[in-house]
Amino acid sequence: MTRVGHGFDAHRFAPGRRLVLGGIEVPHERGLLGHSDADVVAHAISDALLGAAALGDLGGHFPDSDPKWKDADSMVLLEACMQSVRDAGYVVSNIDATIVVDRPKLAPYIGAMRENLATRLQLHLECVSVKAKTSEGMGYTGDGTGVAAYAVAAIEKRERA
Ligand code: MG
Repeated sequence: MTRVGHGFDAHRFAPGRRLVLGGIEVPHERGLLGHSDADVVAHAISDALLGAAALGDLGGHFPDSDPKWKDADSMVLLEACMQSVRDAGYVVSNIDATIVVDRPKLAPYIGAMRENLATRLQLHLECVSVKAKTSEGMGYTGDGTGVAAYAVAAIEKRERA
């Protein structure tokens, strides 16, 4: 039986921060503000994975009130979420993420994000999809306020040996 999880995240642009998306640093004059490195893609996928297995959410596993996670590498948190899902007896079938922001243009970085996510999650490349969309100047993703990311993950119970 296939189970599906959904994740969403958004972070605000701020000066003097790095823009890290899917573990890849994207050159831009501003980065995303957050307790960790504010990687919205890693956070949305983490919540999709946890949601598929009904294991709570990223904030529950790694509270932003805990100084331990300050400036954390979100790919490390994502790997830990993946491990929790595997420990619960599931295999991940595929992941699909959508990043919403008008600027910077992300097309040149999508391939690197997919490869990085596949490597860190130990998934085949064809099981990891990342897409970038604009919002045509509308709302906080269109006016330069921030970046949003959505993700879904499909998982299945591992067959007993
Ligand atoms: Mg977040």
